[in-house]
Amino acid sequence: MTTLTFDELNSMIDPYNDDMLIRTLFNLSVEGKDKCSQCEEICDIVTCNKCGDAVCIKTTCSNLFPHHKNTIFAVCYRCSKEISDKMNLVIDMGKLSSIKNKVKMRQNSSENDEKLALSK
Ligand SMILES: [Zn+2]
Ligand SMILES: [Zn+2]
Repeated sequence: MTTLTFDELNSMIDPYNDDMLIRTLFNLSVEGKDKCSQCEEICDIVTCNKCGDAVCIKTTCSNLFPHHKNTIFAVCYRCSKEISDKMNLVIDMGKLSSIKNKVKMRQNSSENDEKLALSK
């Protein structure tokens, strides 16, 4: 077992190392050389997990995420745009529920105020 210093831990979550991880996982998951559906160049490709199209590692072609069992979860640029549209919706829903909670808390505290006023 190794003991990592805070600085070492920090450098491990450095974006550069994330990139290295993505590249390593990409190389492990590569399905061969084919025409990328996004940039239309012949390069090492993986399959988009959503639409099944071939995509390469370029950030303009795909979004790649580390996945379980050292595999990569690839989403082509076109699909990731669709997903991010939906993500915005999810985030807005989250905002809504947190606003609702705040309103609830306010209602609860005003109820307590009323009780206090009655007990006097
Ligand atoms: Zn490409
Ligand atoms: Zn896709």
